Amino acid sequence: TPIEQLTTPMAQQEIANHQETLLQYGVAYYEQDAPLVEDYVYDALYARLVELEAAFPQFINPDSPTQNVGGAITKSGLEKVVHPAPMLSLGDVFSLEELEEWDARTTKTLGFQSAYNLELKIDGLAVALTYVDGKLIQASTRGNGMIGEDVTANVKMIKVIPQILNEPLTIEVRGEIYMSKSSFATLNNQRETEGLAPFANPRNAAAGSLRQLNTSIMKQRQLSAFVYYTAEPDILGVTTQSQALERFHELGLPTDHHNHVILKMPDIADYISKYSADRDKLSYGIDGVVVKVNELDDQTDLGNTVKIPRWAIAYKFPPEEALTILRDIEWTV
Ligand code: NAD
Repeated sequence: TPIEQLTTPMAQQEIANHQETLLQYGVAYYEQDAPLVEDYVYDALYARLVELEAAFPQFINPDSPTQNVGGAITKSGLEKVVHPAPMLSLGDVFSLEELEEWDARTTKTLGFQSAYNLELKIDGLAVALTYVDGKLIQASTRGNGMIGEDVTANVKMIKVIPQILNEPLTIEVRGEIYMSKSSFATLNNQRETEGLAPFANPRNAAAGSLRQLNTSIMKQRQLSAFVYYTAEPDILGVTTQSQALERFHELGLPTDHHNHVILKMPDIADYISKYSADRDKLSYGIDGVVVKVNELDDQTDLGNTVKIPRWAIAYKFPPEEALTILRDIEWTV
């Protein structure tokens, strides 16, 4: 039913239903690493809930999935870690028009057109890495954004994550842990041979591997990582997101080199079409493009909501399943 046609009780009921369904999907996805539905099904229901809650804000519940970073603190047996600054999610859009709208809002708030750093949206899970005097001392998952799980022992098994930085800095950096497409295929083949259920996708396989307690299993899992954020850029002496990525690289941290700075939003079109076409050629999964205000002071001015930064937005690619169906239809027509 179009939102304008909903009566208040109808809206209240639909909001409650969607909140409950999405919470259930969230438990399966974040806590059990075994999603019940495809991501685009979750995303569509989530988008509907966002619209409904915007039209009927009296029914926004603090427990709503729109108000919380996904992933409750689970009973996994891992120690809990309180994040020094919250680890947030990202707002998402599915079209160039929505990106233009986001750009217009950002430009209005800042009072000028910002440059944007474009990055690939790596399909993994967020991790925070704490270095003291250049030495890796702790790694934690995002969890509920405020409290994550201690995965230090497992992260130390990931070869691309340095135990020692090239400079003796004390800094927390954040990024994405992922499983490459080839490691994922090998792992699922092996699981099927052993009569175990295959993982639904590389993201769930990475999350499941990182959050299990046996480090010798972790050794065989071949995870990788990219670092893309720190809340302490002054320690790096940088003022933009693109410079931060260069400094991470200098420190020996793994970074994705596909980032690109644009001066105005329409310039994003080429980047999106290039990577939505080339994503199959990458050795790791991506599910979109992340647009970030490049100047870090401007990011601070824009700030965050309880769940997402206002200075970044994720453009999500159409689901691969749907694309395959579309291609099949094209062939049969
Ligand atoms: P998200 O994965 O859509 O986006 C936020 C995350 O993107 C960040 O936390 C970070 O980990 C990651 N990221 C990757 N590359 C990045 C980069 N270059 N810069 C910054 N961040 C980057 O949001 P989420 O809150 O983690 O999860 C929500 C998504 O998870 C939904 O959109 C849905 O697709 C999926 N989900 C699916 C189910 C299901 O049942 N299938 C259930 C819950 C969630």
